[in-house]
Amino acid sequence: MKSTKFTPASKLSKAEIDRKWWEVGDFFRRNSLWMLMYCTGCCAIELPPAMTSAYDMERLGMGPMATPRQADILLVSGYLSLKTLRRLIYTYEQMSEPRYVVALGSCPINGGIYHDSHAVINKLDQYIPVDVYVAGCMPNTESVMNGFVDLMDQIKRKTAVGWKKYHENNAWYKENQKTSLGEVVVHDEFHE
Ligand code: SF4
Repeated sequence: MKSTKFTPASKLSKAEIDRKWWEVGDFFRRNSLWMLMYCTGCCAIELPPAMTSAYDMERLGMGPMATPRQADILLVSGYLSLKTLRRLIYTYEQMSEPRYVVALGSCPINGGIYHDSHAVINKLDQYIPVDVYVAGCMPNTESVMNGFVDLMDQIKRKTAVGWKKYHENNAWYKENQKTSLGEVVVHDEFHE
């Protein structure tokens, strides 16, 4: 059996130590995902079977979380009106990093059946980054569960990097938000 060479922490660079801590963090994170369900549309009806005995998402270490500051996943379940989009952006901005977005249904991808509505947005990823899309109108529960497993796999492969893209392209996201909504000011009640 091949033995693994042990390197004491004192011999590792800071970057290597940081990387190892991220690996440990990612292991626990992907096996303990807390989800804020932002139930915007009819796709939300697939969540009760995903959460209860039929599919039991707790088997994957997943559970609901009521507040953005403790949530890992922002789940968008369908179409988004302009008024709702503003609240969704406030919510996303409050979440700790790393944070992930899962979007259900065709509506967040391209507007779905509301694609020509004056009050509903067509592409969610113009406003905040989306890590996993689950297509369908509405997607069945198996597809929703597959979407969660896909997110876990992305975290393992380090490709769930939407939250980093939000930093790197922040000016672009903010411009899109401003074009559709006007100024989006996120208040920080602890530091104002
Ligand atoms: S994708 Fe279909 S089921 Fe989902 S919110 Fe849009 S219209 Fe409703």
